[in-house]
Amino acid sequence: MANAAGAGGAQQADVAVVGAGFAGLYLLHRLRKAGFSAIGLESGNDVGGTWYWNRYPGARCDIQTSDYSYTWDPELEKAWTWSEKYATQPEILRYLGFVADRYDLRRDIRFGTTVSAATWDDGTQRWLLTTSSGAPVSCRYYVMASGCLSAPKPPEIEGFKDFKGEVYFTGRWPHEKVDFTGKRVAVIGTGSSAIQSIPLIAQQAAHLTVFQRTPNFALPAHNGPSPADRVEMLQKDIPAFREQARWSMAGVPLPPATDFSWQLSDAERRERFEKAWAAGDLVVMLTQLWADQAVDVDGNTLVADLLREKVRAVVKDPETAEALTPRDHPFGSKRPCLDTGYYATYNRPNVTLVNLRREPIKSITASGIKTDSRTVDVDAIVFATGFDAMTGAITAVHPISGRGGKSIAEAWEHGPQTYLGLTVAGFPNLFMITGPGSPSVLSNMMVSIEQHVDWITDRLVALREAGFTTIEATDTAQAGWQRHNADCSMITLHRLANTWYTGANVPGKPQGVMPYTGGVGPYRGICNEVVERGMLGFRLTGANGAEQCNDGEIVRLQPDVRLVLNLLASMNLPPLESFGAQGARDFLTQFNATRPAGRPVGEVVDGTLPGTDGPLPYRLYRPSTPGPHPIVVYFHGGGWVLGDEQSDDPLCRDLCRRTGMAFVSVGYRHAPEHRFPTAAEDSYAALCWIAGHAAELGGRPGPVSVAGWSAGGNMAAVTCQMARDRGGPQIAGQLLICPVTDCTFDRPSYVDNATGYFLTRSLMYWFWDLYCSPADRTDPRVSPLRGKLAGLPPAMVVTCEFDPLRDEGVAYAEAMAAEGVPVEQLKARGHFHSSFAMVDVVITGVGGRVQMARALRRFAGLPVEETPTRQDNTAQRPIQAAAAGAAD
Ligand code: NAP
Repeated sequence: MANAAGAGGAQQADVAVVGAGFAGLYLLHRLRKAGFSAIGLESGNDVGGTWYWNRYPGARCDIQTSDYSYTWDPELEKAWTWSEKYATQPEILRYLGFVADRYDLRRDIRFGTTVSAATWDDGTQRWLLTTSSGAPVSCRYYVMASGCLSAPKPPEIEGFKDFKGEVYFTGRWPHEKVDFTGKRVAVIGTGSSAIQSIPLIAQQAAHLTVFQRTPNFALPAHNGPSPADRVEMLQKDIPAFREQARWSMAGVPLPPATDFSWQLSDAERRERFEKAWAAGDLVVMLTQLWADQAVDVDGNTLVADLLREKVRAVVKDPETAEALTPRDHPFGSKRPCLDTGYYATYNRPNVTLVNLRREPIKSITASGIKTDSRTVDVDAIVFATGFDAMTGAITAVHPISGRGGKSIAEAWEHGPQTYLGLTVAGFPNLFMITGPGSPSVLSNMMVSIEQHVDWITDRLVALREAGFTTIEATDTAQAGWQRHNADCSMITLHRLANTWYTGANVPGKPQGVMPYTGGVGPYRGICNEVVERGMLGFRLTGANGAEQCNDGEIVRLQPDVRLVLNLLASMNLPPLESFGAQGARDFLTQFNATRPAGRPVGEVVDGTLPGTDGPLPYRLYRPSTPGPHPIVVYFHGGGWVLGDEQSDDPLCRDLCRRTGMAFVSVGYRHAPEHRFPTAAEDSYAALCWIAGHAAELGGRPGPVSVAGWSAGGNMAAVTCQMARDRGGPQIAGQLLICPVTDCTFDRPSYVDNATGYFLTRSLMYWFWDLYCSPADRTDPRVSPLRGKLAGLPPAMVVTCEFDPLRDEGVAYAEAMAAEGVPVEQLKARGHFHSSFAMVDVVITGVGGRVQMARALRRFAGLPVEETPTRQDNTAQRPIQAAAAGAAD
């Protein structure tokens, strides 16, 4: 309980919490239990937050209620039973009232009170809050539990004030019953709120006119009792169910689909889709169809097309059906909706849809709404026009002034900047629950709210125990978090739509994906890691000059690379070199069998070609476009010891599709059976044969290009030197991906990345030892950096930040450039040695592979702007942006 009086008449509290919704109530409970005095400030006259304000007809949750409940007290879970799969707003509000009573929370909340200003005082190291009623509040910590969708967007339509009829906002619905019987009603907007309310308003109104700017994807809720399988799953082991949700991607315990769309037949895809449609569950439709549905435009289009069919199947008038069909954004990139009879409503004779894309609203008049081509007179207008989401409740409601008097609105002038979505540099002791930069609205809010409340409360307890009184994010940590968020947003498709997630719905708002798209489980892991690493990225201060600042960035790896490395670490594998050569090969075969199968290309042909000492296998990948195609001779990775012409199959397929060029992957012989210079000589012999038999392979005669990854990059570099020195063949260009170029092991990347990034320094030592005796190591056929570099073909050299081989790749690129060779470098930030080979696993590698494909096309004299397939998730946005995401 906060003290009633204090210095200057302010009410004193350890913590002030704005908002008495799900977040505020749980926070007040936890703070009280932890022995802090706390005061809740709530503008509504009762608890409920979003469920207090959003009372419009049809308002329900659209995450199954079994998942949309508090989980912090097992007794509470037993004490409340939801009546439906998706509870109504009144039932959810009753639940929150029940919780407030059960834990006696109302006594700490000042209702009907808004904060008019919050100011940090550096002298007292406290926040001072002025409020619309009651005494000001002085608190050590200030927490915004004010919700992500709680600041309704003002109606920015001209003439709004002239309207003489009734006006309603879905987000500020009156408490009294609203009766539309016999009235002409307009609804503006077709987001979740509109889609829930339109069918019910249509049942009452004499006529309903819906003004739609952008159609949304909507699925039937199939509401009713909670599905039996779900109830059974929950009841069988409630703690396990909840724990699984906490570590999932979306906060609902559903492991994501693992099959890729191209591995399924049309019939199999339709079957999955219809099952998801029947489930009536957004999370099922968003995550359970195929692995590429949320990360790849092509995989997503397959879902979107099936959803579009459903609109046409219900809505009888073809023009209305077309207007209701979303075509401008991938499914899930904008918040999809759950509906009950939404599309069928448009078959009613008393409902009209006005397509604002065809006839925009010009103004609101005294009697109705005027578009470019008609005036619709109405008795009531319902604004279902949404919210100034995520930042609105923090910047637009009251000024929050931090260190030096700077307001948060100023600090976020170009978009929200946070550390973990929880704190803001320059604003000590300020926390946000589910703020921008946290998973919040992209997750089951209940899971995210509880995680934030627990994290904050636990930190406050730890600060108290350690004698610290302030906590503040550092600039470095915050900048790193922004970068990590931007990296995450390159994985999903949210950035491809104009939505409230990106700020696009509010005129003039800075744009960018605001929620964290990396998933609630990984996010939880990161928040825990911040603590384990000594409050990394936070400055803590206390009495008598006590200070602790463990500065740094919490995530420097690309998000998917981090997941891959964490997974590998959790497997606790013995070092690869401990298996011996054959054991390591067997391991690689097994490892490769578990990876996503590469995507289809036009044709794959296996064959042999004559090597220096007998036949060598090759695998030819032909594009689906008519040939002949320019040829790329490809050399696989594996440290001259492992792999074969098929082991980089997904990468070859990917580059074949992106370039529209034929790839011939060569099976050169390996050490220790065949030591240096066998691999180099085999590779050169294969290159000569392929170049000489291009037409036979369906290739375009003329110079071929070479490409390779890792030791294959070494082969590609070496064969270019051999071809130059031995009179051919002519090479158009070389793509060297994380190549071995030199036998020196003391460059910084060998030290910095010696362990922890899969390719280790000791594994490289082993490869070198098996392939090449010390006396041979400076030979340019294995250390091309030691060779003559002038006169080599144009090159693209790709290096990864967290790769022992990084610096020798960069050295090779620089040395070639110094000798006049045209060189393009891609320095992939946050990537590791295998990033670009792990196609469809390391999604953030897409941008880099797009850049590589462009280089290969340029080498071959093909137009680089042409994209032969639409297979990557960057297809709808400039490719450069994707590439920039992966590279410095
Ligand atoms: P919303 O999704 O932002 O939808 C607003 C609608 O109004 C959009 O169709 C928008 O068109 C339209 N609009 C906005 N300004 C307009 C203008 N000046 N002229 C014409 N049309 C205009 O808002 P919402 O429906 O309130 O939903 C917001 C979020 O709240 C949801 O996405 C969901 O996360 C949450 N919500 C949840 C539930 C639930 O069941 N749990 C229910 C309701 C809401 P554009 O698309 O063209 O901008």
